[in-house]
Amino acid sequence: MSKLKVSELFYSIQGEGRYMGVPSVFLRVFGCNFTCDGFGMPRGEKSNERNVIANRVSEFKQYKDLPLVHTGCDSYASWDPRFKDLSPVLTTDSIAESICEMLPYKEWRDEHLVITGGEPLLGWQRAYPNLLDHPKMQELKEITFETNGTQKLTPEFASYLHTWKSHHNKDFWREITFSVSAKLPCSGEKWEDAICPEIVVEYEDYGTVYLKFVIATEQDFADAECAIGAYRKAGFTGHVYLMPVGGVESVYALNNRRVADLAMKNGLRYSDRLQVPLFKNEWGT
Ligand code: SF4
Repeated sequence: MSKLKVSELFYSIQGEGRYMGVPSVFLRVFGCNFTCDGFGMPRGEKSNERNVIANRVSEFKQYKDLPLVHTGCDSYASWDPRFKDLSPVLTTDSIAESICEMLPYKEWRDEHLVITGGEPLLGWQRAYPNLLDHPKMQELKEITFETNGTQKLTPEFASYLHTWKSHHNKDFWREITFSVSAKLPCSGEKWEDAICPEIVVEYEDYGTVYLKFVIATEQDFADAECAIGAYRKAGFTGHVYLMPVGGVESVYALNNRRVADLAMKNGLRYSDRLQVPLFKNEWGT
C-alpha cells in the first residue's frame, strides 16, 4: 500500500478550465518546486504574507483554519515546510475510503477527480497507480492533474497511464487530463525554470493537455503570447486558456471581463474561477 502527504481532500465544483462546473473531488498533495511569491506584487517584488502567517503557525490546528492570502501562492500551506504538520500522511486505502464517503451516492457516478497541489507530479507519481487501482476507485472515469508543467513523467507512471490509453473502449476507459498552469514572470519564477515546452508536449502522449495562463496585466498577456509561441514551436497541439488573476473576489471582479475580452480577441479560451464568486475561494472549495 502506498502513502501520500495530503493537504486537502474535499468535494466541490471544479471552477476552472476544461471541467468547469463538474462536481469533483480534489486531492491536494503536499510539495512544490516553486514558491510563486510574485503573484499580486509589483514586478520584482515578493509577497511576505505567508512568512507573517508562518510566524503564527502554532495558532492553527488544521489546514482549513489558515488565513487566505491576497498575494503570492494561494495554496502556500501545501508546500511551505513550515506548515507541513497540517498535512497528514495517509494511505491510499484511507484516501479511497474517505473519497467514497464524500461522494453523494458513496460511489463514483459522473464526478471527476482532480489531483492538485502544490505540484502533484513531483515524487507522488509513484503512489497514484495504487490509489487509482483501488477497488473503490474502479468506476472513476475522468482524472485531471493540475500541474505547473515542469515535471517529467517517470517511465513507470507513463507506462501506467499508457494502459488506460490503450484500453480506451466503451467498457474500460479513463480520460486523463493535464491542466498545465505554466508560470509567467508575474509569478516571480524564472522563465527558464517555468516554461518547459518539451516536458508538456510529452504529456500529450498520455492524455488531453491544455495550457492555462493567469493574466493580470497587458505585460502578462505579452508574456503568455511569447510562451504560447514556445509551446507551439515544440509541437504542443492543445487548447490555451486565459484566466483572470484573483483568489479574492475584489481582485477577480476587477479583471475577469477584461481577460474574457482578451481571450475572444485572440482566439483563445477563457477560463473563469468559479470558486471565487461561488465559494469566496475558501479552503475546501
Ligand atoms: S506552482 Fe502552484 S502550488 Fe506551486 S507555488 Fe506556484 S502557484 Fe503555488
